[in-house]
Amino acid sequence: MTVNTETLVPYPEAMERYEPVIGLETHVELGTRTKMFCGCTTIFGAEPNSQVCPVCLGLPGSLPVVNRTAIEYAIRIGLALNCSIATWCRFARKNYFYPDMPKNFQISQYDEPLCTDGYLDVAVADKTVRVGIERVHLEEDTGKSLHVGGATGRIHGAEYSLVDYNRAGIPLVEIVTKPIEGTGADAPVVARTYVTELRDLLRSLGVSDVRMEEGSLRCDVNTSLAPRGSGRWGTRTETKNVNSLRSVERAVYFEIERQAAVLDAGGRVIQETRHLHEDTGTTTPGRSKEEAQDYRYFPEPDLVPVAPPAEWVEQIRATLPEVPTARRARLQKEWGLSDLDLAALSNAGALDLVADTVAAGASPADARKWWLGELARRANEAGIELTDLAITPAQVARIAELVASGALNDGLARDVIDGVLDGEGTPDEVVAARGLAVVSDEGELTAAVDEAIAANPDVAAKIRAGKVAAAGVLVGAVMKATRGQADPARVRELILERLR
Ligand SMILES: [Zn+2]
Repeated sequence: MTVNTETLVPYPEAMERYEPVIGLETHVELGTRTKMFCGCTTIFGAEPNSQVCPVCLGLPGSLPVVNRTAIEYAIRIGLALNCSIATWCRFARKNYFYPDMPKNFQISQYDEPLCTDGYLDVAVADKTVRVGIERVHLEEDTGKSLHVGGATGRIHGAEYSLVDYNRAGIPLVEIVTKPIEGTGADAPVVARTYVTELRDLLRSLGVSDVRMEEGSLRCDVNTSLAPRGSGRWGTRTETKNVNSLRSVERAVYFEIERQAAVLDAGGRVIQETRHLHEDTGTTTPGRSKEEAQDYRYFPEPDLVPVAPPAEWVEQIRATLPEVPTARRARLQKEWGLSDLDLAALSNAGALDLVADTVAAGASPADARKWWLGELARRANEAGIELTDLAITPAQVARIAELVASGALNDGLARDVIDGVLDGEGTPDEVVAARGLAVVSDEGELTAAVDEAIAANPDVAAKIRAGKVAAAGVLVGAVMKATRGQADPARVRELILERLR
């Protein structure tokens, strides 16, 4: 039967009847200086087709050579994910035609991945979910097509297409989870948290810049639903190339609501790839997997097998940094945070930012206050991640320092943040250009206080009678008179001194 895919079951209701199973396939562009099988450089945003050679263009007679650093990075990732490292494995050819893949095959790994059977522990609310890692393998990225002349940027309606092969041959690592079961209603959050943890781990390993918005980390999100207690798995859909943490969560959430409606109506979920629309948070069908093409994999004849010596693997293991979970536990202790405080920092994606801000000289309390308060609010309003705000931890530390020294109050500090985010320069430059500084001239302040008292005799009388709380009205008047450029705590002191 045909089921309208637009029909949705509200999430809580879907959760009453169905149990989700999710899985994530994450592609990570490695930050090697050169490509996977040739010496071309890998600078993001370079002039199209300026980083290409006969090997990555697939010209006849050219031969690939494996990039040792890419193998090392993949092993680092595998070890950090608690995987077994293969003592011997081969690359394979994955044959298909696509204009942005000049060789008409992709060198990948098929049944002999470099790393297998690991896990990543993910903290969700008050529990830890152990996400099994099926495999970590190496492959090469494709080029990029640009469709010109259409309204949507898609090939349909375009007048012509351009191809940029700069990305073709950049080393990619694919990290595939085992099916994640038993998460219940937390499935969307587990998916998001897994990707967040994985991103943090990869960043700490120094193997990739993991910038989702530049596509150096992208996820395919698998979701299936089965009736509760049925003991079986449903048919999964694969939402392709999800490129923000928020979208990972939304993709699972939407697929659960959509698939529940299909199942409720007696339909069957079709195994297919789907595309997420960032604007609406909905998915629409792409290619059906039921007519999936046969990639005719076979071992890559132009490359020797990869057989990393055990000593080399152990050397790499010895250089692994403190894993983010251990680091979090250490910082929690150093900063004196409760579990809840720490969870708030992690969930906001603010831990590294706060750590860097503390390293730049701010107190942990100040760093948390700015990142979780004002800056989180700005990121939320703009619909972006905290890390994508145009302000650095060092700049936040400088603002905190200016507040601590009394040169700025919190209100003025917010103006400085405005200026920095608007590209007006460093905090000091914004302070100078906008003339933002706390009025520290006691004479000027006292005059403003006296004026406020004179203008509000009834309030002044209340304070004299002991109703100290009424001072807020006068503080407000003085702040207004000084256009926010006074230290409210000092103003309050002066008012109470005058009316004692
Ligand atoms: Zn090349």
